Amino acid sequence: TTFAEMNLAQPFLDAINVLGFTAPTPVQAHVVPAALSGGDWIVASQTGSGKTAAFLLPTLQQTWNALRSGTNNPSDAPYTLILCPTRELAQQVAADAINFVKQTKGIRIATVVGGTPYHKQRSALKGAHLVVATPGRLLDWIQQGGINLSRLHTLVLDEADRMLDLGFMDEITSIHEACEHRQQTLMFSATFTARETRLAGALMAEPQRITL
Ligand code: AMP
Repeated sequence: TTFAEMNLAQPFLDAINVLGFTAPTPVQAHVVPAALSGGDWIVASQTGSGKTAAFLLPTLQQTWNALRSGTNNPSDAPYTLILCPTRELAQQVAADAINFVKQTKGIRIATVVGGTPYHKQRSALKGAHLVVATPGRLLDWIQQGGINLSRLHTLVLDEADRMLDLGFMDEITSIHEACEHRQQTLMFSATFTARETRLAGALMAEPQRITL
């Protein structure tokens, strides 16, 4: 598979080119078409495998489709939410996302993590289409009514095993409940033991699996 065969719009292919990615990594070759076909997916993936682009490319493509067709409301309800275990990872994922939308006018990305003043996040959240967040701070925003997840289409859990290590099970399930009209969940984890399976069972009805 090549990136050009993946049903990605030209501005994303241009961004991939600028980044110097010549061919998809195995996780990208599997996950991009799978996620674009819809449904819930569980992906066993290690750091360094290219997993970040594997979930950013299809979710950004879907976000862009929704924006262009006018099905995504232009107000304050994000279309895609990515949960990360740590501030550092969330900032890295957001930086990667910004690189992918450099040639795509109109997609706004917000990062919601602890340690950042609330007023700064409030303005970043305004009109954001894709939100990258850590569970604790995002749940704060939900409980304060500062973020509207009622129109969210896709929820991504990055490094789910590390989020469970950090004790975020309850936060994740509460966030999931706030995403009432969610149509897709993508769960990435390096390990799949009983607790990841339990989390997947709480979030997804009939997930399909990708193991590389
Ligand atoms: P990740 O596993 O998402 O943390 O990605 C690991 C590193 O691989 C990052 O520095 C990416 O920029 C890089 N990368 C991701 N996909 C590709 C690709 N298809 N070709 C070359 N480098 C890539």
